[in-house]
Amino acid sequence: MEDYIVRATAADDTVRAFAIRSTNLTAEAREIHHTFPVVTAALGRLLSAGAMMGSMMKGENDKLTLQMKGDGPIAQMTVTADSHGNVKGFPANPSVDIPLKRAGKLDVGGAIGKGIFTVIMDLGLKEPYNGQVEIQTGEIGDDLAYYFTVSEQTPSAVGLGVMVDTDSSVKHAGGFIIQMMPDVAEETIEALEAKLSGADPVTTMMDKGMSPEDILEYYLKDLGLKITEKQPVRYHCGCSKEKVAGALATISTDDLKDLINDGEEIEVKCYFCNSAYKFSTAELEEMIESR
Ligand SMILES: [Zn+2]
Repeated sequence: MEDYIVRATAADDTVRAFAIRSTNLTAEAREIHHTFPVVTAALGRLLSAGAMMGSMMKGENDKLTLQMKGDGPIAQMTVTADSHGNVKGFPANPSVDIPLKRAGKLDVGGAIGKGIFTVIMDLGLKEPYNGQVEIQTGEIGDDLAYYFTVSEQTPSAVGLGVMVDTDSSVKHAGGFIIQMMPDVAEETIEALEAKLSGADPVTTMMDKGMSPEDILEYYLKDLGLKITEKQPVRYHCGCSKEKVAGALATISTDDLKDLINDGEEIEVKCYFCNSAYKFSTAELEEMIESR
């Protein structure tokens, strides 16, 4: 089954909604970064959030970055997404092993800890939009809902989940975002709140065979759900030797000269996909000359 995002509206366009199946891309992230289960869950949730928020952007070259910086053992996670269904990310520490919160429940909040959640949107304007909120629970869904409500003044319900199997593989990953537009009616909010309070977690729904469409149907059927778009989504880096060379620009000329004097080619790895790019001493010398 493929990963994809659906967009929808309900209640005469006073509600907009997104849902994602992100099982494959979360599995790919796990493979690239060799994440332990709790990090697989944390990164998968943030990737799902990033992919859905990426699909909210309209511009061809718009770019979204989500960053969670906490005092928990993961320390930091970064996810970037575009408006075409491409998403990627990495954790600062992929090898986190902490006790379960309760039977079968990975402690994502404990692995993230307290800190700052940052959203950066580069919409091609002079300055990128930059929103920051304090991490609420570190469970990511809660933090995203808090961000939308406080920073974008858009009350939102967010569900994000990753079900990690006993062999540490990704069984299900997905999520939804349901947002209230400014002219939403009180009874719409109440109807939605009633649905939310009795709902299973996203991954339980997926385990029952529910698709992203089914999940939105569950919440919004009675409110006149209209699915408006379906978009494929994937883990995709798109790095190149040129882009990685940009990272070398932060190394001082003296340090580069030291590397050259060592006489060996150097290898630079992309944080997002672990691709390795080699730079010969001749290429490093060229870099110094072009400064
Ligand atoms: Zn890469």
